Amino acid sequence: MGLLTEGSPLSWEETKKLSEHVREHGIIQFINLYKRLWDRQGDVLKWGDEVEYMIVKFDDANKKARVSLRAEQILNALNEKELKDPTGVKSLWRPEYGAYMIEGTPGAPYGGLLAHFNIVEANMKFRRDEAAELLQAGEVLMSLTSFPRLGCPDFTVPPTTPTPDRGATRSLFFPDEVIYPGHPRFKTLSRNIRERRGEKVAINLPIFPDENTKIPVDESYKHSDAAKPDHVYMDAMGFGMGCCCLQLTFQACNITEARTLYDQLTPLCPIMLALTAASPVHRGFLTDVDCRWNVISSSVDCRTAEERGLQPLKNNKFVINKSRYDSIDSYLSVCGEPYNDVPLIYDPKVYQQLRDAGIDHLLAQHVAHLFIRDSVSIFSEKVHQNDEQDTDHFENIQSTNWQTMRFKPPPPNSTIGWRVEFRPCEVQLTDFENAAIVCFVVLLTRVILSYQLNLLIPISKVDENMQNAQKRNACRTGKFWFRKNLLTCDSPPEASKCCPKSGSELYEQMTIDQIINGMDGQFPGLIPLIKSYLSGMDVDADTHCTIQQYLKFIQRRASGQLNTTATWIRNFVTSHPDYKKDSIVSDSINYDLLKTVHKLQQGEIVCPDLVDELETSKTKENVPDAYKTSENCNC
Ligand code: GLU
Ligand code: MG
Repeated sequence: MGLLTEGSPLSWEETKKLSEHVREHGIIQFINLYKRLWDRQGDVLKWGDEVEYMIVKFDDANKKARVSLRAEQILNALNEKELKDPTGVKSLWRPEYGAYMIEGTPGAPYGGLLAHFNIVEANMKFRRDEAAELLQAGEVLMSLTSFPRLGCPDFTVPPTTPTPDRGATRSLFFPDEVIYPGHPRFKTLSRNIRERRGEKVAINLPIFPDENTKIPVDESYKHSDAAKPDHVYMDAMGFGMGCCCLQLTFQACNITEARTLYDQLTPLCPIMLALTAASPVHRGFLTDVDCRWNVISSSVDCRTAEERGLQPLKNNKFVINKSRYDSIDSYLSVCGEPYNDVPLIYDPKVYQQLRDAGIDHLLAQHVAHLFIRDSVSIFSEKVHQNDEQDTDHFENIQSTNWQTMRFKPPPPNSTIGWRVEFRPCEVQLTDFENAAIVCFVVLLTRVILSYQLNLLIPISKVDENMQNAQKRNACRTGKFWFRKNLLTCDSPPEASKCCPKSGSELYEQMTIDQIINGMDGQFPGLIPLIKSYLSGMDVDADTHCTIQQYLKFIQRRASGQLNTTATWIRNFVTSHPDYKKDSIVSDSINYDLLKTVHKLQQGEIVCPDLVDELETSKTKENVPDAYKTSENCNC
């Protein structure tokens, strides 16, 4: 989820008073950091994945599945190994928003060797097994994007009750005890976001309209003006930040390559969101969307009514068109500049201060734009800092801008270089799928960099794609703006060979199938590009086979031969004997669904419409130099 500062959180009133202080020093800290590190060179390509998990507990006697609030206990045990041997462990574990969530990453990043693709899945399996060892009877670890009955009566173990009139969240459905208790950050964020906004957050997801679906969906509208009758209403940060995702971080060889990666991966965010869609059920209802994105976006939307444009500006400075969790608003590379077609909101004084310090226009406006947000969590110990050395105030704002991509400067005094984070993907049920997604995205970055491709389209089109990506069945039926001619004048001949020259249109709407698999004579397709890139590489047979399996899986999901997780869940629910065609996902349906998910994750059953039997990969651990850093650098 981001940075975890130790200490005691300030009240909202105190935090609010310090918001200018954090901004002022955050900008100075960024300037100092930039001056120190802008010309840092020679880092090698490294990358790593992050998988978020839920702990679910089955109550077989009553046919119920609940979230188990034991993340803190389990994390304490998992972190013991790391504390003893910080650099020798195969996995790292961190808390997440929910008291039922944990986040795992490989112990060390992967490098530039293709052989590293061969151990991604094994490491994911290792993490799953490692955490599973600490579970109690009935508990299971799940890589599940949204818990279908989050916020329904009796959804936790131990039992908890919402407190709408007190506490951090004040939700009708989501008790504060369901927020991770082991660190104050999460509860503080929930409280301050609500206080800053001036009311509870409001999430309304359109209901999936089935034959017997009742409108209004439930009684929510009686309790809150914010609830829309034909929508599933949710009123807590936990409904969003309680979702799990799959993220990737890349270290670039220098700041320029990081800016290129940040930009080039941006148009892929909505595409990967649609391809990984995995969350059609929220608060016990089948919705008309397949992804978590807008749920989280609304769940941390701290903008006041003025900032949302509902009231004239009086106490606030700006009308802001997005939540602090949303897609990015501007490109960072010179190549990207012409596609920055959405007016960027920022304080001209902050922008000028960055420019005066020698920071170029694109980076200055990016940072100034991040800094339109107020801090929503300050720790008393961290108020006064040494701006020459510390970057906490900068990180305070940076880490609470949860966007599709994140541009990350090197941390102070570390060996880590400039990095970018790729954040849109929903987590998949099986390690095979997650590994396939990860390897596909990493391979794409290699192709983009070595073929010097340009995938950019205007930011406004990426925004439009983000909304379309979330619609029901978008992966199969949605259309997405995508650039047609990916070649640049720097592209090598092998790139030109596989890119047909076509028409004068810069970009057009394509299906996910066309984007991934290509369109005869008109668009090469991302997988054929990867295949062409790989054909020029020296790969051992075993790695080759693994990569081919992953690519085949992506191809088949994109073409619709395989279902997205969202469609698979939808089909499971609607064909369940207890389903009454009323959009309600009852306890028994939820129980059977999650039992099936668990069997699938354990490899006990195969669902050929989700992951083909032939494709379930065996565990591979025979890469001796697995964690050695490769010297390959793509620049
Ligand atoms: N769980 C959040 C999501 O699904 C991400 C939190 C984080 O930044 O780690 O997008
Ligand atoms: Mg996380």
